[in-house]
Amino acid sequence: MTNPRIEIVPLLNDNYGYLLADETGEAAIVDPAEAEVVLAAAHQHQLRLTTVLATHHHGDHVGGNLELAARIPRLRIVGYAADRDRIPGLTLAVEPGDVVQVGQLRGALLAVPCHTRGHVAYHFGRALFTGDTLFAAGCGRFFEGDAAQMYQALHQVFGALPDDTLIYCGHEYTENNLRFAASLEPNNPAIHAAARRAAKLRAEGRPTIPTTLGEERSYNPFLRVRSPELLASVQRAHPGVEVTDPVAVLGVVRAMKDHF
Ligand code: ZN
Ligand code: FE
Repeated sequence: MTNPRIEIVPLLNDNYGYLLADETGEAAIVDPAEAEVVLAAAHQHQLRLTTVLATHHHGDHVGGNLELAARIPRLRIVGYAADRDRIPGLTLAVEPGDVVQVGQLRGALLAVPCHTRGHVAYHFGRALFTGDTLFAAGCGRFFEGDAAQMYQALHQVFGALPDDTLIYCGHEYTENNLRFAASLEPNNPAIHAAARRAAKLRAEGRPTIPTTLGEERSYNPFLRVRSPELLASVQRAHPGVEVTDPVAVLGVVRAMKDHF
């Protein structure tokens, strides 16, 4: 499996779109929140944009779809078949297990419902585009799903992937996420190392993306629902929670983050 060339495209306030391209320069954009910036980035990197990959229907991820379709003849807009009615301009409805093709690149769509019921991730080579499901040091809100579904997404679907998987997520939330992580595991050195790295990158105006799944497993509280220190913190804040149930712990951690 060849790895795509990837260019990060900052959009809106804190969103990221991602250009992924094969060796000929044919490219897809993951989550084009706005069209103009994406077109300029494709031009700057001398890429031929043929495809949109939508992770989910929220406006800060699909906001540029229709304008891109108006500007690029035969643009393909790829999304999860289960959410075909909510992805603007969808031209290619894909199911889990289908091959997603971008030029010479072959990827897979992974269904990870919870943030929205039609949320998907795209997996190309080592790169995983996680949208608003897994963030660096965090996870998305449970707008249309529950803790059991997010557990399935993070621990079963992404759980099957190796540590060197590169995580390209939908937002730059890393520093705030790490502050929350540190509140639950103040003695986890991986959190403090990641916070120092993120602060340095942000001070230089650079993204904290990508991280790796292995790094996420070392500091992301939503992947650490079996950490003794995290469980002690959760138990202190919510004495009733059944800390032997990782799904319950994940739900409580998400609720704590909602109010952090
Ligand atoms: Zn969203
Ligand atoms: Fe979002």
